[in-house]
Amino acid sequence: MSNLSLRLKIVQAGEPVLRQRARPLSAEEILSKEIQDLIEHMRETLRDVPGVGLAAPQVGLPLQLAVIEDRQEYQTGKLSEEELAVRERVPIPFHVIVNPEIVEYSQDTATFYEGCLSVTGFMAKVERARSVRVTCLDHRGQPQTIDARGWYARILQHEIDHLHGRLYLDRMDSRSFTTFENYNRYRDDRVVAPEAP
Ligand code: ZN
Repeated sequence: MSNLSLRLKIVQAGEPVLRQRARPLSAEEILSKEIQDLIEHMRETLRDVPGVGLAAPQVGLPLQLAVIEDRQEYQTGKLSEEELAVRERVPIPFHVIVNPEIVEYSQDTATFYEGCLSVTGFMAKVERARSVRVTCLDHRGQPQTIDARGWYARILQHEIDHLHGRLYLDRMDSRSFTTFENYNRYRDDRVVAPEAP
């Protein structure tokens, strides 16, 4: 198969699946060919965009599964060392989260602009917990506990919101809402959205 055929269509705000609560997957389902293929297709789609996170509802499937990857090449050259440091943004290897639950939120919060592959072309400031602990299953259906901080914690909160029918629009400081173009025009600090590097 060519990469082109692996690229899934990413649905946009207004599509009902983005507002549904996604259903959990059993360990057996995770190991099925159908879900293993889906993971591969979502990985290719995420790299193709490119983005740092993609949840199954964004490709039209109301399943509690998301893929995450924040590569070094998305960061260096695009953000200064200082910008990366303030966002606590470090490379995160590709991985899959299934049935994730945020079991701990830090009191500490951070507010940065973020965007979404399902709300193309816009960004807004969103306040989120600076660190979270997440329990989930991995791509093999094995239980995992993730302790994340900084940008990775933001990505997790954003993707897990998708699995509960929430978009960053529900949490944003609405007066900061901007087109991506105007963001780049008027902001000195060039940030990158969690999903769109
Ligand atoms: Zn999103």
